[in-house]
This record gives sequence, structure tokens and C-alpha cells, in this order.
Amino acid sequence: MQVLEQAPALEEVGAGIQIPPNASKILAALGLEQEIAARAFRPQELETRMGQSGQQVFSIALNAKTLNHWGAAYYHIHRADYVAVLSAALQARAKDALVLNATFSHYQQTADAVVAHMTDGRQFLGDILIGADGLRSRVRQQILGPEQPRFTGNMAWRAVVPLTALDHPPPPNACVWMGPGRHAVTYHLAAGLVNFIGVVEGQDFVQEDWHTTGARHQAAADFADWHPIITGLIDKAEALHCWALYDRQTLSTWCDGRVVLLGDAAHPMLPFMAQGAAMAVEDGWALADCLAAQASHSPHAQQDIADTLRAFQNRRLPRTMAAQNASRRNMKTFHRSTVVSQLANYGPMWLGGKLAPHLVRRRLDWLYRYDETAVAIG
Ligand SMILES: Cc1cc2nc3c(=O)[nH]c(=O)nc-3n(C[C@H](O)[C@H](O)[C@H](O)COP(=O)(O)OP(=O)(O)OC[C@H]3O[C@@H](n4cnc5c(N)ncnc54)[C@H](O)[C@@H]3O)c2cc1C
Repeated sequence: MQVLEQAPALEEVGAGIQIPPNASKILAALGLEQEIAARAFRPQELETRMGQSGQQVFSIALNAKTLNHWGAAYYHIHRADYVAVLSAALQARAKDALVLNATFSHYQQTADAVVAHMTDGRQFLGDILIGADGLRSRVRQQILGPEQPRFTGNMAWRAVVPLTALDHPPPPNACVWMGPGRHAVTYHLAAGLVNFIGVVEGQDFVQEDWHTTGARHQAAADFADWHPIITGLIDKAEALHCWALYDRQTLSTWCDGRVVLLGDAAHPMLPFMAQGAAMAVEDGWALADCLAAQASHSPHAQQDIADTLRAFQNRRLPRTMAAQNASRRNMKTFHRSTVVSQLANYGPMWLGGKLAPHLVRRRLDWLYRYDETAVAIG
């Protein structure tokens, strides 16, 4: 196995990420839970609030009962720590697997093998090629032809701020703050840090680059008259990164013979449900499971590889499509503009949370209780 990565180094990325139970149960099955838990923060609740007043709309306690019901822990972790845990696990299993400075250009396949060509002329031969190369996947482009991602008109402000710098720290929860045409997400990380994301509609900023920063006054204007927790985070952030949000058509084909897509390359997901990376983790398990089953049944039957990759695609399509659609719907839910539409949407949420909190929790079962490690091979 080789992991071909275009970057010259696995460098630190200055942002956090949520690992929901559907992903953390896979990390546990891989034996990585201890390493993740040692570097992660465990939120106490999932909650939504009104961005300006701070009024809570609903919350779900992430207590032992809820987490037992969903079958695994909920973590918040710095992306650099997540990458460190995963790359150490890769190193332990396959010492020289990671090849840096390897920019994929195109592939060629025969009945027996596939060759990945790099832009610098190097070639890597393998049984299968997995295109886990993100939103702008070149592997996807070769399978399906040119098709540009669609800019959603949303941009995200992102910052990591030390808790000690804040006069008004956010609650120790995964908290979505909703408002007209925008929303914010706050959560704690380990080591006394807070992660902030502020998504704003109607933008013409189109860059996707982890290193691009924006002006504080602009972020402050986007969230002017919001709750002091939000304005305080913007005020105290050392750097405010900006990231344009793109989407793509939902695909029904992820493979071509010995080549298959995985993660954002197959099903890019708006970050409105914290599920993009989680779905890529689920994909990884499912693909390994399908390949292991194929190897144990017919290790030499070449045609089986294409069938196996298609079986993986068919196993994952309905779930990833549902998550993509739910993420798109959340944008509308979080960004309600008029008082009437806010009342019509948030009123029932608030009432449901008060009268039947278990039903609110149950609405997330399809996402968090799902266990890819328990899926039976058909
Ligand atoms: C603001 C924001 C918040 C988010 N929050 C969450 C969250 O809380 N939880 C969650 O689960 N998800 C979250 N996501 C989504 C998550 O970040 C993505 O879904 C996830 O990173 C996708 O992983 P991937 O491996 O498929 O693609 P990527 O992370 O894009 O990785 C692709 C890799 O391929 C490499 N590559 C690309 N092209 C080539 C090439 N030609 N040759 C060689 N290498 C190449 C890239 O350098 C990169 O390392 C969030 C996203 C955003 C924007």
C-alpha cells in the first residue's frame, strides 16, 4: 500500500474538527480510541442557540445514557492532532507507505493492474487506486470528465482562540448559533482552546486555502450585534482564516474498473452537520471490509475487483447521499431570515426539546447510532 500525497509535509492545520460517534466507533475498532481521547475534548451537550440573544433552542446532553445509546464517544480535536494520530497509525502498520511530494496526474489500467502517474513523471503500480483526493479530485475528473464544484455563496471564518483570552467563553458544548443568512459554531478543544466557525451567505470570496486570512473588522461586521460570546471570539482571535464553501452534484458512480473514489472526492459535504470527515472514515472501513471479503473468497479473480469496488460504492451511496442532503438542508434551517420563518422552525424545535427531549435525540440516531463496522457483507 502507498499513500500518495501532494503536500511536501503533513503540516499543522489551524482548526478543530468534531468526531461524532459514527466515526469514533470506527476509530475505536481500529484501536485508536486511547490516542484520540488523550488529545480530544469531550463536549457535554449538542445545542443550538439564537445568535443574537444567545437563547437556547434545544440541547441534547451527551451523558452516558446518550453515548451508550449511540454506541461511542463524541470528541472535538485539533486537526493537527487528528492527522498526527492517523499518520502514526499508518506508520506503525506500513512504515514507508506515505509518499509526500507526490502529485497525482492521471491513471492507466489494464486487466491486471492500475498505474498512477505523478506530475513529475513517477509511476506507482497497484491492484487498485483509491481517489481520496478531496473536493477537486483529479481521479474523479478522469472517471467522470471535467465538472467544476459549485460555489455556494457561503464563506466560513475560522479561528482557534485560547480560553484564557476570552471574557465570555462559550459553553463546553458543540454549539450552533443561528441567525439570518449566517450561523456560527463554537466548541472547545483540548489544551484550553476554543474553535470558532462563522458561516456567512451572499459572499463573493471564492478561495479555498488554509492559509488565507481575512480582516477582523470584516468578520466583526458580519457578526455585529451578535452575542458577546461570538463577538468576543472574533475580537480575540489571533488570525481569522477564510474558506469558501463549494458543493457538487451528488454522484451515482464512484468507480471505473480498478479505480474508486472515497470521502469528499466521492461525496463532498457542506460542513453544516460536521460529517464530511466522519463519512470518509466510514468509507475507509467499508472499503477495507469489502476488499477483505473479496480476498477471502476469490484472491485471484481479477474481474472481482471491479465488482468489489462497485459493491463498496453501492453500500455507501444511500448513506452518504442522505448526509449530503441533510447538510444542505441545515444551511436553510440555520439561516432563517424572517421572524415568521424562525418561529415556524425554531418554535417546534424548542417545544420538542422541552416536552420530549428523547425524541429530539432519536432524530439523530440514523447519523450517530449507525455502525459501519457492524454492516454485514451481502
Ligand atoms: C469549515 C469546515 C468545518 C468542518 N468541520 C467538520 C467536522 O467537524 N467534522 C467532520 O467530519 N468534517 C468536517 N468538515 C469536512 C471535512 O473537513 C472534509 O469532509 C474532509 O476533510 C474530507 O476528507 P478527504 O480526505 O475526503 O479530503 P481532503 O481532506 O480534502 O483531503 C484530500 C487530500 O488529497 C490531497 N490531494 C489532492 N489532490 C491531490 C493530487 N492531485 N495528488 C496528490 N494528493 C492530492 C490533498 O493535499 C489532501 O491531503 C469541515 C469542513 C469545513 C470546510
